[in-house]
Amino acid sequence: MTSATAPALQVLETTFGYDSFRGQQGEIIQTVVDGGDALVLMPTGGGKSICYQIPALVREGTGVVISPLIALMQDQVDTLAAVGVRAAYLNSTQSLEARREVEAAFLSGQLDLLYLAPERLRAAADLLDRGRLALFAIDEAHCVSQWGHDFRPEYLGLSMIHERWPTVPRIALTATATAATRKEIAQRLDLGTAKQFVSSFDRPNIQYRIEAKAQPLQQLLSLLRTEHAGDAGIVYCLSRASVEKTADFLVENGITALPYHAGLDSGVRARNQSRFLREDGLVMVATIAFGMGIDKPDVRFVAHLDLPKSVEGYYQETGRAGRDGLPSTAWLAYGLQDVVQQRRMIDQSEGDLAHRRNLSAHLDSMLALCETIGCRRVQLLQYFGQESEPCGNCDTCLAPPETWDGTVPAQKLLSTVVRLERERNQKFGAGHIIDILLGKTNDRITRGRHDALSTYGIGQDLSEQEWRGVVRQLLARGLLAVQGEYGVLVITPTSGSVLSGDTPVPLRREAARPSKAARRAV
Ligand code: ADP
Ligand code: ZN
Repeated sequence: MTSATAPALQVLETTFGYDSFRGQQGEIIQTVVDGGDALVLMPTGGGKSICYQIPALVREGTGVVISPLIALMQDQVDTLAAVGVRAAYLNSTQSLEARREVEAAFLSGQLDLLYLAPERLRAAADLLDRGRLALFAIDEAHCVSQWGHDFRPEYLGLSMIHERWPTVPRIALTATATAATRKEIAQRLDLGTAKQFVSSFDRPNIQYRIEAKAQPLQQLLSLLRTEHAGDAGIVYCLSRASVEKTADFLVENGITALPYHAGLDSGVRARNQSRFLREDGLVMVATIAFGMGIDKPDVRFVAHLDLPKSVEGYYQETGRAGRDGLPSTAWLAYGLQDVVQQRRMIDQSEGDLAHRRNLSAHLDSMLALCETIGCRRVQLLQYFGQESEPCGNCDTCLAPPETWDGTVPAQKLLSTVVRLERERNQKFGAGHIIDILLGKTNDRITRGRHDALSTYGIGQDLSEQEWRGVVRQLLARGLLAVQGEYGVLVITPTSGSVLSGDTPVPLRREAARPSKAARRAV
């Protein structure tokens, strides 16, 4: 094992003001200082930046940092300047004059670090040839993975780095990668022989909680009021409209909240982002356009009002909570409608069958995490290939969900779906199927003579909410599927084994929603 030598330690202390390396930082830094390549997987907040910043300072020449986070480059450069590191950036937002100045500084050897947007690499290649290069750092390296959740085509062009500058050491960093993504990164960036550094993905100070969506805005408000009054946090929503609606709702309820999404004017976005970073206790309501690379240590909660599209996305977004190591909450409310909506988006997405299958697989893993009756953390870490013990700090560990035998209700539900399809050649969404089971009378039931079905009214022993739970859990396990623009329910190849009684269906009991009085009392 190599450990960091004197020059690296000295930079750590004098420039960054830390007295020791964290985790594998020392070995990573020494590998690159010695001219080797490294592939670094470290959770958000783990301390990836100094892994390339220190080698850039120790080695001769300029460290070139490829980063997709154009909006943050100015911030990063300013932060470095404050500790006396000579850094600059080249991206498309710059004036020609500003660019010339940076180029001149680079050529005369006055830059320790040069941040570069990936799409500028080709244009900057001749410039880089004429200067002295200490290393290449490829930040957010998972963006090269076509099957990942955050693919950026410009990243594919980064394979030129090794071809054009074969002797310059490279370090690729990411906070999110399954074994498959890691392999893809190594292959696409030609890092097959790079030393891999995989840190633990556990963020023990984050409490993971996932609950059923009933009145999401009220649920969110109650979380903020009872546990996170005055705290800084991020609330993620899927659409711009729901970002606006949620931010308005929080403001009306006395919480300082700001919206952030790609539809806002860039000036407004920049202002809201910098207020979030600098002021205390602000709540940012945002689409996933917000957050990558945001370094705010005291984010106390990350709430999701809509289901993330993948476990990787969920992990990365929740990972923005509690970088300072203090107790923090990752809270998600999800409902049947989320599943229907996301399946529809997948069905309608452009791209070939393989692509849609891949999106489906991502969604399935996310659903499985939501519906697990075991420890959330165990399941989350397992997804990243890490075995662990039940954590004692997630909702299922703190209040193990009760399970019940849902085989008969599952059969009732599936046979309603089958009958409608076989006898009537009709398909319906969950709402109508549940109405039939509950024996409701409404227009659609009367018109379709669904009150004549043998399953009409046979589900009155469960509430509507419980039925929605049954549907969700069957969907999560692939025993039922949802299809098409209207989100109709259809059976799957495995539904038959439930109907025949060969597959028992233990279900998680829906947590009763605490009454208003009880919530106030918390
Ligand atoms: P990442 O990029 O992995 O999300 P950062 O590089 O932004 O993480 O580091 C997260 C925080 O940890 C920063 O505030 C950083 O200053 C701090 N940090 C990094 N390395 C150390 C260290 N060795 N000792 C103390 N603090 C550190
Ligand atoms: Zn747990």
